Amino acid sequence: MLFDTHVHLNVEQFREDREEVMQRAKQAGVEYMVVVGFDHETIPKAIELAENNDNMYATVGWHPVDAIDMTEKELNWLEELVEHPKVVALGEMGLDYHWDKSPKDVQKEVFRKQIRLAKKVEMPIIIHNREATEDIIEVLQEENAAEVGGIMHCYNDSADYVQECLDMNFFISLGGPVTFKNATLPKEVAKVVPLDRLLIETDCPFLAPHPNRGKRNEPAYVKLVAEKIAELREISFEQVSQATTENALKFFNIER
Ligand SMILES: [Zn+2]
Ligand SMILES: [Zn+2]
Repeated sequence: MLFDTHVHLNVEQFREDREEVMQRAKQAGVEYMVVVGFDHETIPKAIELAENNDNMYATVGWHPVDAIDMTEKELNWLEELVEHPKVVALGEMGLDYHWDKSPKDVQKEVFRKQIRLAKKVEMPIIIHNREATEDIIEVLQEENAAEVGGIMHCYNDSADYVQECLDMNFFISLGGPVTFKNATLPKEVAKVVPLDRLLIETDCPFLAPHPNRGKRNEPAYVKLVAEKIAELREISFEQVSQATTENALKFFNIER
């Protein structure tokens, strides 16, 4: 049994064949999924999918790339939505220094506001990090995010930062890049994260694992991520799938 902790089945790329994609996930053993909403369009869609499917849950947050578009109105909206029984975390939120639509200081402010909201409503958070690990850790520490805990989603930086994340009650989630032939960092990370703090995800439709790299990603491929982690840690696939599923159920506070 597998738990894909980060999917975007709520985006345009799955509009035409979403049902088939979900069917293939089931066949691959993917029992649970969390659909991550991150803007005006994807948040309601994430909730709709969670409402209509067993073992599917939603998160709501504001993506750092669009930080410049977030006002008090959006923040209040997120606060209302966390009351929904199938909303299990706030996010994705964080910092993304790859794209320059939103200046860094705006991104940080929007990030801080969402962490404070998470603490207010006592919900864990999902962190999006692109080329910003040190600033992310600084903000999380300053805001005492350890109080709610969270997930470093699709973690893709050096293993050197892993301990600081673990110290803040964070989980490390690995996705497709751990399978890429030339990717050394996530492979190192896959070996050092304690098994009880490890999660897996696809982040589909992005970052499809080898041998599907470059194609549209989908939840069924999370199996390839688990297989690669098992190989790297020299443990069985069952151990990886069982541990990561248990971790995710606990993290999202989902009862079987
Ligand atoms: Zn992300
Ligand atoms: Zn995402």
